[in-house]
Amino acid sequence: MYHPPVAGNASTGVETHPLMPGPHPDAHAEPAAFAPAPAVAQAGRAAVAPAPVPPVDRLGRSIRDLRVSVTDRCNFRCRYCMPREVFGRDFQFLPRAELLTFEEIARLAGIFVDLGVRKLRLTGGEPLVRRDLHLLVALLAQIPGDPDIALTTNGSLLAAQVDRLRDAGLRRVTVSLDSLDDDVFMAMNDAAVPVSRVLDAAAAAGLSPVKLNMVVKRGVNEASILPMADFARERGHVLRYIEYMDVGNTNGWRMTDVVPAGEIVAAVDAVHPLEPLAPLYPGEVANRWRYRDGAGEIGVIASVTRPFCRGCTRARLSAEGQLYTCLFGTEGHDLRAPLRSPATDEELDAVVRRIWHGRDDRYSELRTLVTLDRPKVEMSHIGG
Ligand code: SF4
Repeated sequence: MYHPPVAGNASTGVETHPLMPGPHPDAHAEPAAFAPAPAVAQAGRAAVAPAPVPPVDRLGRSIRDLRVSVTDRCNFRCRYCMPREVFGRDFQFLPRAELLTFEEIARLAGIFVDLGVRKLRLTGGEPLVRRDLHLLVALLAQIPGDPDIALTTNGSLLAAQVDRLRDAGLRRVTVSLDSLDDDVFMAMNDAAVPVSRVLDAAAAAGLSPVKLNMVVKRGVNEASILPMADFARERGHVLRYIEYMDVGNTNGWRMTDVVPAGEIVAAVDAVHPLEPLAPLYPGEVANRWRYRDGAGEIGVIASVTRPFCRGCTRARLSAEGQLYTCLFGTEGHDLRAPLRSPATDEELDAVVRRIWHGRDDRYSELRTLVTLDRPKVEMSHIGG
């Protein structure tokens, strides 16, 4: 066990496009058969304790990804995530004492890696507003098992920190960028941050390929679909289009705001012909296409028109140590209390296993106009 050193769809009625594949291959799959490894020693050989079996949830899904929110604060006020009229001057963000320390995050991350997690993604809020984030990356990089360490950021603070982060062990960066048009971009981030600040950071990152995430909202930035594709093609960035989702309780989501993934793919394909790519691994969130001329690829995350819950292997840890098993979860599970009780690693392992065993989340498959009113955790609290 790793101890960090003590240091400083269907129900929505949206049609998919003919270019989009049919239902997700896992969409109606039965839960995978769960067969514990045999513990019987072979004759004539000393018995060896079997490796712990990774947990699976009630739909047969394991834990492969842990998204770690390090802060609930952000320097942007994107309309779909932290609208200014809600997250204004008087909004009470988490006090510092409530946040998990870097050592606590690294200890929990080590337990998740032992349970099967392969990718650790740092999110926020905006993760780079938390001071000295590279110290956390350095702790995560020491976890045995060589987990992939990635960061999702709005990019505005990246240039000043990217060298420290990379030297500490960061492997990959995803930059959220919703338009190349300054007027559109600034209207979306509502923080007067121009595109150039984000682009400079992405270019400076040197952690290639840089991934760009673009949330597409009808009537707001759909005109940016093609310019973003051109931009990413030219620079060798990997672009992911994301359908606008009903995250949190404050973005006033309506089905008519969604530009379906099929429409996005068709728009790009009409100018730069595409062909589908096979998933890189089971449960991959993005549907991917490559340009027929070999100039890279795009992906679409079609959470609304083509939910992928049956392949969802993500857990989310909030900045104050609540574990959420779904982006649209209502309540988290407190890991900070046992962590500070203080529980042993074995006890924490058992707590996480119990939570994961009980998981049956599949919000996007169940999404209807009725579920919109269900209270949900804010995306700024647990990352996207
Ligand atoms: S809705 Fe929840 S269960 Fe479904 S893919 Fe998203 S996070 Fe996973």
